Amino acid sequence: MSRVYNFSAGPSTLPETVLQQAQKELLEWRDSGMSVMEMSHRGNYFSQIAEELESDLRLLLSVPDNYHVLFLQGGASAQFSLIPQNLLKDKTKACYIKTGAWSEKAIKDAQAYCDVVVSASSEAENFTAIPAEDTWQLDQEAAYLHYTSNETIHGVEFNDVPDSQGLPLVADMSSNILSRRMDVSRYGLIYAGTQKNMGPAGVTVVIVRDDLVGFAQKTTPPVLNYAEQAKNQSMLNTPATYNWYLVGLVLKWLQGQGGVKAIEQRNITKAALLYDAIDASALYSNPVALAARSRMNVPFILADNNLDKLFLSEAEANGLVELKGHRSVGGMRASIYNAMPEEGVKALIDFMAEFERTH
Ligand SMILES: *Cc1c(COP(=O)(O)O)cnc(C)c1O
Repeated sequence: MSRVYNFSAGPSTLPETVLQQAQKELLEWRDSGMSVMEMSHRGNYFSQIAEELESDLRLLLSVPDNYHVLFLQGGASAQFSLIPQNLLKDKTKACYIKTGAWSEKAIKDAQAYCDVVVSASSEAENFTAIPAEDTWQLDQEAAYLHYTSNETIHGVEFNDVPDSQGLPLVADMSSNILSRRMDVSRYGLIYAGTQKNMGPAGVTVVIVRDDLVGFAQKTTPPVLNYAEQAKNQSMLNTPATYNWYLVGLVLKWLQGQGGVKAIEQRNITKAALLYDAIDASALYSNPVALAARSRMNVPFILADNNLDKLFLSEAEANGLVELKGHRSVGGMRASIYNAMPEEGVKALIDFMAEFERTH
């Protein structure tokens, strides 16, 4: 078997030990006599998996007791519509910070439900920076302030929690949750699809402060209503049971790595290695302002884009795959989430140096 270094933005590489454990337990989970896939979601065995999943996530992120932790379906994309449906209450406006393709999508979908106030945008700079906070135009009549803590496509990441000036702060953390320490108590709601940094696709984590829950619109279906799901431990309908189990394995792996603080240190090291290599080269460049560079997704372009195809094919021949950048940005993108080992980043850097030397 020859596993490659997979730099995909999502679904993305998983820790090998997690895959091995899933393989070991595929036919029989603990002493249950059955696969997790075959279990009733209401039974004792699966209840144990569900309880461990929630308590492990609470522990890793130090989630305060006054927050619900939900495991939903529909991806982060469903949340683009569900956040306004659940949080608007009697308000008609919501503030959004536009820093890249994902916040742009969140804005577009929210517009069906409310007046979106774009409080700041870096569109004029092609999404290569984060607008300075003292220029943000927040509207105190808004129901919340939404931002995307890591723009997966543009490689732009917030280093600090924005000051929402009293508005409930809502963050799409799909591509940087559990990659760095974060103070949950600063947020009204955090959401993340699991396929970037927490496991396979198929689960969406929603962490929401309890005073914000219970105000969904009358037309919001129960399975999409945070209050209903909170009351039913996210099991109003049959959840994606096997995916919950896999996310649980990833969380246990993360605990074994020393938790979020330890993985953050490793992520800082990995990102610094790659950005230093890009900055030192004459062939590669990254357009993002230094202070806004993502530790998770590193886009870079080649000075001569005629070399793009060759770069990708030679990288693949060296076991380095999924490096093609998003079509809206072009060039390359290396996603280096928690599960990407430092050796993978080093292998990429060595390949890039050799490619530059020979081309
Ligand atoms: C991938 C991604 C999404 C979309 O996730 P889906 O699960 O495909 O809906 C949304 N926001 C961010 C920041 C992402 O990286």
